[in-house]
Amino acid sequence: MKPAPFAYAKARSLDHAIELLAGAEARVLAGGQSLIATLNMRLSHPSLLVDINGLDGLDRIAVVNGTVEIGALTRHAQAEHSSEIARHAPLIALAMPQIGHPAIRNRGTIGGSIAFADPAAELPACLLALGGDVEIAGPSGKRTVVADDFFKGLFETALTPHDVLTAIRVPAAGADTRVGFAEVARRHGDYAMAGLAACARAAGGGLSNVRLAFFGVGAMPVRARQAEAALGAGDVDRAVGALAHDLDPPDDVQATGAVKRHLAGVLLRRVAAQLQEPRP
Ligand SMILES: Cc1cc2nc3c(=O)[nH]c(=O)nc-3n(C[C@H](O)[C@H](O)[C@H](O)COP(=O)(O)OP(=O)(O)OC[C@H]3O[C@@H](n4cnc5c(N)ncnc54)[C@H](O)[C@@H]3O)c2cc1C
Repeated sequence: MKPAPFAYAKARSLDHAIELLAGAEARVLAGGQSLIATLNMRLSHPSLLVDINGLDGLDRIAVVNGTVEIGALTRHAQAEHSSEIARHAPLIALAMPQIGHPAIRNRGTIGGSIAFADPAAELPACLLALGGDVEIAGPSGKRTVVADDFFKGLFETALTPHDVLTAIRVPAAGADTRVGFAEVARRHGDYAMAGLAACARAAGGGLSNVRLAFFGVGAMPVRARQAEAALGAGDVDRAVGALAHDLDPPDDVQATGAVKRHLAGVLLRRVAAQLQEPRP
């Protein structure tokens, strides 16, 4: 299929992009790796695409005051090969190679992945596990939304159609930061059947501040709060059991809910072992 007709405008600045998005049925174009497919399948039919590629300052990775800031136009490949990300945001470094294939990672952007909010995508879960936040520019100025409030439902976020996501921010990893990541996909590079991104702090012989964000098991990335508490108490078996309360995965084209629930338990045991390991 081919897309319905649409107009195209290249934004000259962030303000210009926001001006263009004020019109009816306009949509931001970033890497185009998800948007173009939805246009071609006629799942979406905007009247205008606002191309933000090339806007100055939106593809920077910076570590400032204990925070890693990743500009929305940072390509997946750029993040994958960034020494700053490897050192200061190791969970994101672990997740990057699992996103699609090199050709997709060369074009796809961090902002596009977070804005699209596919429930089986890796980065939204990483942002949630890290307790990060999202910087947004819109017609009324700039605002920041924490990850726990950003994801609202299936492909639904705190962004309005008139907003541009400009950056994400996550706390820079410290010496006591522990991270874990695992997913099950039919083939490497496919969206996950189920996945888990996790972050914690080493405390004594155990863990504190455990955050577990599952993906591919609901309409959006899901915190498993009872399992977090059990893992913080050092009880992996109880954490796995708690997933019966924390998760209610629906059946989808990849697997039944029952299979996904089983996979979630397997992933939690793998990630619990990773969280015991100090960072290299
Ligand atoms: C074959 C294939 C396999 C893939 N596998 C995976 C995978 O395993 N895991 C995974 O996570 N992803 C996967 N993807 C998706 C890929 O990561 C996309 O790049 C990403 O989801 C969207 O990023 P983009 O920059 O291409 O955004 P686009 O496609 O340009 O945009 C996607 C949506 O986000 C909006 N948007 C984009 N940027 C902004 C912004 N800055 N502000 C506001 N709105 C914005 C657009 O308007 C659009 O609605 C795959 C894609 C393909 C084609």
